[in-house]
Amino acid sequence: MSNDRTPRRGVLLIVASPSGAGKTSLCRRLMADHGGLELSVSMTTRGIRPGEVADRDYHFVSPEEFQRGIDEDAFLEWADVHGNRYGSPRAPVDKALSEGRDVLFDIDWQGARQIADKCPGDAVRVFILPPSLEELRRRLVTRSQDADDVIERRIQNAKGEIEHCGEFDYVFVNDDFDRSYSELAHIYHAERSRRFRNTWVDTYRMGLLSEAV
Ligand code: GDP
Ligand code: ADP
Ligand code: 5GP
Repeated sequence: MSNDRTPRRGVLLIVASPSGAGKTSLCRRLMADHGGLELSVSMTTRGIRPGEVADRDYHFVSPEEFQRGIDEDAFLEWADVHGNRYGSPRAPVDKALSEGRDVLFDIDWQGARQIADKCPGDAVRVFILPPSLEELRRRLVTRSQDADDVIERRIQNAKGEIEHCGEFDYVFVNDDFDRSYSELAHIYHAERSRRFRNTWVDTYRMGLLSEAV
């Protein structure tokens, strides 16, 4: 009997949060544990941080190059966030989906909304809340990758971002990291198993029913 588990519809797993709530750390671990999941590497006009690797963490580009991407309709979504532009390149997402693979997005609420509007059914939105704004500040300061004024701007923007958590499918608080990671992984696993994504099931079921026993 054939046990082919294709074709399937991929998940577009979108993780958003205020800056410092922990989404990048959670997304990195999810990527490390799931070989079939592809990270959407965003294009950004912000400068590279110490420890970041170009084309792994972001495609770092000039404002002119970013504008060219907009003009050429090269983004699935893009947004102004904390004074810089960020966008998800369209081509790698189309390719992954056409091959039945899943894509992970570490983006803001504006991008989550655009992808959910364009790809209803495929998009799954997860919002991560910080335990408190005081803890958010502590994490941004401890991460020590942003200047004081940048940290201050991100904290001031956090409340506006948190107001949008009602638009998301799943929400949880990132207090204990391992517990939060387990939550995210469970969401991903459950979404992968949804009946409508697993279009191979009809053929598979026929195979089971035709087995002689
Ligand atoms: P972080 O919040 O500390 O992870 O800081 P970043 O500078 O990495 O990201 C800044 C904001 O831009 C965050 O809200 C991200 O979720 C958002 N962002 C990153 N990539 C994208 C993208 O491709 N599109 C959109 N719309 N937002 C993005
Ligand atoms: P974001 O991508 O949302 O800005 P990061 O993943 O960069 O957030 O996390 C911000 C900082 O908080 C990092 O230094 C990270 O190690 C730390 N952090 C993430 N999750 C937790 C947690 N559950 N408890 C304590 N510190 C955390
Ligand atoms: P940072 O500058 O700290 O890397 O990211 C700041 C914010 O921008 C984060 O909330 C991050 O998720 C968001 N972000 C990063 N890439 C994208 C993107 O491609 N699109 C959108 N909409 N937001 C992004």
